[in-house]
Amino acid sequence: MTRDHVPDRSGTALLPRTAPHPEGAISPLTKPESAGYDYDVVISGAGLAGSAAAVLLARRGVRVALLERRSDPEAYKLPDKKRLPAFREDLEGSFLEFVRALPEAPPIDSAERVTKIIGTVNYPLHSRKPTAPGVAFVGDAALTGDPLWGVGCGWALQSAQWLAEAIASAATGRGDLDRSLGVYARRHRRRLRGHQYLAADFAKARPFNPLKRLMYSAAARDESVARHMYLFASRLIGPLRFLNPVVLARATAVNIKHRGAAVPLAHLSRTGS
Ligand SMILES: Cc1cc2nc3c(=O)[nH]c(=O)nc-3n(C[C@H](O)[C@H](O)[C@H](O)COP(=O)(O)OP(=O)(O)OC[C@H]3O[C@@H](n4cnc5c(N)ncnc54)[C@H](O)[C@@H]3O)c2cc1C
Repeated sequence: MTRDHVPDRSGTALLPRTAPHPEGAISPLTKPESAGYDYDVVISGAGLAGSAAAVLLARRGVRVALLERRSDPEAYKLPDKKRLPAFREDLEGSFLEFVRALPEAPPIDSAERVTKIIGTVNYPLHSRKPTAPGVAFVGDAALTGDPLWGVGCGWALQSAQWLAEAIASAATGRGDLDRSLGVYARRHRRRLRGHQYLAADFAKARPFNPLKRLMYSAAARDESVARHMYLFASRLIGPLRFLNPVVLARATAVNIKHRGAAVPLAHLSRTGS
């Protein structure tokens, strides 16, 4: 796996507006003496979240500066822990072997290496307050999820969109910036906090709590609870809708019915009949 640090310190800074302009643009900051430039928003980090936020804000007429500290691409690999001893012994050899064995593997042997390979064990899960005065965090900078659940890219793009929708007007001098940041922070928390809680719970292999046991066992037995579970696991609905009382009541009824049906079988096997 290659990754130099997690989570990164990328984020979005909102600058006081000094002059009106008709159309937004993302400007390459190529000169170190950039004091002459004038931007509404400075984005640090041109990963998925930063790039998406830059594009979406620029489309709304915001003047954006997008800063990136790297000039080379990154790639991640996520082998399971059974391979850890081999990776510890020979990081590069194990990495190459892992990539070669992938279905339709990219031609790793003829590829040009641009950085060293870095291994990370126990990927940390971090949640930050998504805003501070004049600053907003998007993507992994706000919240680093368990890669096994595979939502980091989706959340990076999604949070960029929420930020652009919330702050574009204020960033161009047509609204209150603090209030807009508050709108973004609330949306971010409302939409992602519950999912992150669940993902972290899985990542830490905590035992299922009674609510999870109720929902998972009912989903295995009832098609409509299973469909509901799918909507939540696909992040199409949030935790509040997932745990709505009607579904909880249905899941309880499904499990009680199942238990009722299971008793005669258990009884039969105990009596040996
Ligand atoms: C091993 C692994 C496997 C993963 N697998 C999946 C998966 O299958 N599916 C999925 O959805 N997600 C996966 N993820 C998560 C996903 O890659 C991230 O959630 C996503 O890339 C976050 O995007 P981002 O733009 O917030 O951050 P990043 O992609 O990390 O981009 C941040 C950018 O900011 C730059 N930067 C940092 N600090 C500064 C600074 N001070 N100044 C300027 N630039 C700076 C960095 O160089 C980088 O380009 C995986 C992650 C890992 C580590």
